[in-house]
Amino acid sequence: MNVHFWGVRGSLPTPLTPAQLRSKISSIIQRVRPDDLASPENKEKFLASLPDYLFGAVGGNTPCVEISSSLTEGAKVVLDAGTGIREFGLALLKERLPSVSCHILFSHFHWDHVQGLPFFGPAFNPSNSLFFYSPVRDFRETLERQMTPPHFPITMETMGAHKEFRVLESSPFAIGGLKVSFRLMNHPGGCYAYAFEEGATKIIYSTDTELVPADFEKNEENTTFFRNASALIIDSQYTLGESIEKFNWGHSAFSLTADFAASWNIRNLILFHHEPEKDDKKVLGMLRSTRWYIDHLEKRGVHVLLAQEGMDFALQ
Ligand SMILES: [Zn+2]
Ligand SMILES: [Zn+2]
Repeated sequence: MNVHFWGVRGSLPTPLTPAQLRSKISSIIQRVRPDDLASPENKEKFLASLPDYLFGAVGGNTPCVEISSSLTEGAKVVLDAGTGIREFGLALLKERLPSVSCHILFSHFHWDHVQGLPFFGPAFNPSNSLFFYSPVRDFRETLERQMTPPHFPITMETMGAHKEFRVLESSPFAIGGLKVSFRLMNHPGGCYAYAFEEGATKIIYSTDTELVPADFEKNEENTTFFRNASALIIDSQYTLGESIEKFNWGHSAFSLTADFAASWNIRNLILFHHEPEKDDKKVLGMLRSTRWYIDHLEKRGVHVLLAQEGMDFALQ
């Protein structure tokens, strides 16, 4: 399976500001020495030596994650329709496929997870098929409501693709041959985590999650869902201090998600749903802190990554 991140920011879109861009350019210029520009090779070496927060960006789009599996027979599987789904749509249009089947699974319906849907280009092509999934009974009405005047000039009716709304009754279910399970997590109004299984590989997406002691309990439900997962993409928006200050806001501290991944023997922990108040340097600092924290845990061995826009992560 492969994971591609189209949007990784939480709460609201967070574009790089002109001041942040100027600051990156200025810091890079201060580091460069004449020798770094002496040849194309030196130039590449110099660029590669720059810290990630200077030569790159975490990304400003809100959640949208693509899961690719050989078991879906060419159908596309996407989690959430934050603003990142617009980029996904543009990439699909570039593929120039005669038609595409797209399965869009919703974790919940807070703005940052649905606001990109009206701008999902392939939805307006009658050759395409869209399958929407959520365990929430009236989610079709919720999606339709955000595309009504005065919020938006055109309605969901104008999306010419074939559309199906599938209310999830029981877990697991299947998309083609891909096994998908879901589970309710702690978040204001609720948020569903999804797990995808291809053979022994299991990827869990748990955005907008404030972990609670019950998530750590070694009962059958938790064990079946979390134990030995290959990768966990999880909301790690806060530091421990922030999570205490923002208790009940529905997001987790990175140290708690690290404890959680270690306690469930999860191989790869992918920090996700980054705080809009944090710039690239601070978000990448959270990655360093999580790795440091994992190294000092009794149970080590969790590989920590940071979800960044445009990033691919392959698992076998
Ligand atoms: Zn969110
Ligand atoms: Zn939310």
